[in-house]
Amino acid sequence: MRAGIGYDLHRLVEGRKLVLGGVEIPFEKGLLGHSDGDVLLHAVIDALLGAAGLPDIGTHFPPDDPQYEGISSLLLLEQAKKLVEERDFRIRNVDATIVAEEPKLSPFSGRMKKKIAQTLGIPEASVGIKAKTNEGLGLVGKGEAIACFAVALLEEGKPR
Ligand code: MG
Repeated sequence: MRAGIGYDLHRLVEGRKLVLGGVEIPFEKGLLGHSDGDVLLHAVIDALLGAAGLPDIGTHFPPDDPQYEGISSLLLLEQAKKLVEERDFRIRNVDATIVAEEPKLSPFSGRMKKKIAQTLGIPEASVGIKAKTNEGLGLVGKGEAIACFAVALLEEGKPR
């Protein structure tokens, strides 16, 4: 078994869609980024890559590469799954905690779980998503950014 950790943070700005876990969430602001800014998927991707001993998300998908401009991070997650499987690892589970003052994310966690599970080809029960606030403290607490922590567990051996 191999464990990996991922972390990401993006600024919340006006004029962008808010996409988390591949799900568009109605809100007056969205996450700034070269891709869709999906901080949850970026943290999960780094956890997967880290568990496999691979370089981080920015190395595989450089933010200055025009082919990734505005791209759905679900496509990047799919790529990360391939990279991990090419190294003969199977994804056992992923777990993430989103830290956001607003909006309330728990109503969307079921849909996020479904998208991630489908993309990774694992059961929904193997995807954990929690959301919490930062108690009003710091940049995340002031609603200027959303952060996410994620872990992934891989098992050596090709998919059965
Ligand atoms: Mg990111």
